[in-house]
Amino acid sequence: MSVNGHGEPSFRQSVDLMFNRAVALMDLSPGLEEKIRVCNSTYTVRFGVRLRGELKTFTGYRSVHSEHMEPVKGGIRYATSVNQDEVEALAALMTYKCALVETPFGGSKGGLCIDPRQWDEHELEQITRRFAYELIKRDLIHPAQNVPAPDMGTGEREMAWIADQYMRMNTTDINGRACVTGKPPHAGGIQGRVEATGRGVQYAMREFFRHPEDKAKAGLTGDIEGKRIIVQGLGNVGYHAAKFLSEEDGGLITAIIEHDGALVNEKGLDVEDVRQWLKKTGSIKGYANATFVVDGPKVLENDCDILIPAALEGVIHLGNAANIKAPLIFEAANGPVTFGADEILRNKGTLIVPDMYANAGGVTVSYFEWVKNLSHIRFGRMQRRAEEARSRLLVEELERLSADQGLGWSLTPDFKKEFLEGSDELALVRSGLDDTMRTAYQAMREVWHGRNGVEDLRVAAYIVAISRVAASYKSKGL
Ligand code: GLU
Repeated sequence: MSVNGHGEPSFRQSVDLMFNRAVALMDLSPGLEEKIRVCNSTYTVRFGVRLRGELKTFTGYRSVHSEHMEPVKGGIRYATSVNQDEVEALAALMTYKCALVETPFGGSKGGLCIDPRQWDEHELEQITRRFAYELIKRDLIHPAQNVPAPDMGTGEREMAWIADQYMRMNTTDINGRACVTGKPPHAGGIQGRVEATGRGVQYAMREFFRHPEDKAKAGLTGDIEGKRIIVQGLGNVGYHAAKFLSEEDGGLITAIIEHDGALVNEKGLDVEDVRQWLKKTGSIKGYANATFVVDGPKVLENDCDILIPAALEGVIHLGNAANIKAPLIFEAANGPVTFGADEILRNKGTLIVPDMYANAGGVTVSYFEWVKNLSHIRFGRMQRRAEEARSRLLVEELERLSADQGLGWSLTPDFKKEFLEGSDELALVRSGLDDTMRTAYQAMREVWHGRNGVEDLRVAAYIVAISRVAASYKSKGL
């Protein structure tokens, strides 16, 4: 099964081939190598729901790639393109992603073959609850064993239904809410989860630009400010990444590619404005402040400094890799570059910041949410006012000293406000995410620059991740 009709290996095979490149540079026993590579299990369920006067059958999957740590973690995708090969590839990527950013989970992924736009909210609720019921029954949704999250086509609403379904079926489980992450804050979610993957892309890019040696490899200098960025996909990930990079870091979003075309504006697009237009009309067509291009995928080949594919897998393939002009690709989607395309890009010097790192912000904040659910208290609740009180003591003492000694110091109101503010949950989540993205990048680049034969960040990321999974298997006696 080809991922995109270019006669290339399937998505899962592509992930395995990337894995193989990394293990060729490692010293693992063939048995352990095989154990880590293979997907442990994939459960397929076909269930019926009575809708619109008829019995409709749906097909869903939950794949568990590795249980070296439990629970296993990974999103649930709703799309008509969902299939077993894709779910298994995504589950494998979850294993490596979790290991790379040190979230204590194995890898899993789920999917339901459905076009969510074809169904009303109450119908989607019935379908989701039924799918969840099938998975809960088999412990494929469980706070200690398997914890899903949102992915393409799902969000807070679906996660709230899943959590509620679990709690209806497990009324005495005090940790029931930890059975799924990405819930809305009123249903046990955490601040900052919705923006997390896009925010993680921003923190990853900031960290990349802190290393002159690394940017030089992509022929770039300076920081994000003024860089011409093309984003593919204005869904949750692409939208937040583009918004933060343009509004907070001065990046210029010179093109946004959607499924029905692309918007191009060399002066930079107003991301929020485009998103509102897309929400209102259901399409980017007709948006005023840009040129509309019908052939969206062709815009991936436009001149720019940074390309952020934030939509589907396999969008950069043997058919277009040679034409990609961006010297730097940030993989906000899972698997946007096929194995074959990766090779072409590497040979022509394109630098790729790989998916398992670039989009790990989502699972990182999911981890914080899971910990919050298990500890039954929101982050910052105990410390925030104590932190404020200590800061106030210091400010008052400084002001007293200044007055007593006639020094005439005065702290600016902005400084005082910021300094005196204790960290709330959102600030703590962002701080934890920032730290995670910095630490993981440093682990990757250490291998990239310090280990013989490692040419690129993707192989480096795999090596870091696989070493950690291997260590965990070894300590289990395998
Ligand atoms: N679906 C997201 C991913 O691909 C998030 C997974 C999670 O939070 O468990 O990483």
